[in-house]
Amino acid sequence: MTMIRGVRLLAAPCCGARYAEPRYQSMNFSAHAFWTDGWRDNSLMPNGTALRRCTCGRFILMSDLVEIGTDTDSDLPRVSEVPEEQLPECIKALTEVPLEIAARLWYWRLLNHPYRHKYREHRDAEEAAWRDSPSSCRQAAPATCPGAMN
Ligand SMILES: [Zn+2]
Repeated sequence: MTMIRGVRLLAAPCCGARYAEPRYQSMNFSAHAFWTDGWRDNSLMPNGTALRRCTCGRFILMSDLVEIGTDTDSDLPRVSEVPEEQLPECIKALTEVPLEIAARLWYWRLLNHPYRHKYREHRDAEEAAWRDSPSSCRQAAPATCPGAMN
């Protein structure tokens, strides 16, 4: 179970902007499906990388933010995730390797979404063929049965 207790108060190293982020006591990373690129379907936690954009315009990682305290609640904003449409610009602009890795990983996962859809269709068709096959095929699973795994 994901449990949040208050907020972490953070300062950006680039300009000193202040933010508040949930203070997690525990995290549940359960999801409907886990993909090899790290994407999770219907995850209980966000899928994104730690890449963020400060209000001053700089790209930063969550680990770059300096914790300045905790509180039960705060009116401070959360530090913004980088919108998908800004990722190509972000990748071109970055010169720091950890930031570029985070941006490229996030962009790669987004570009994989059409393949996830195709793969689901393939798996659904395979399962339907198996489900609709005679029970003798399901028990023996010879390679000649529709939907048999090789
Ligand atoms: Zn800043």
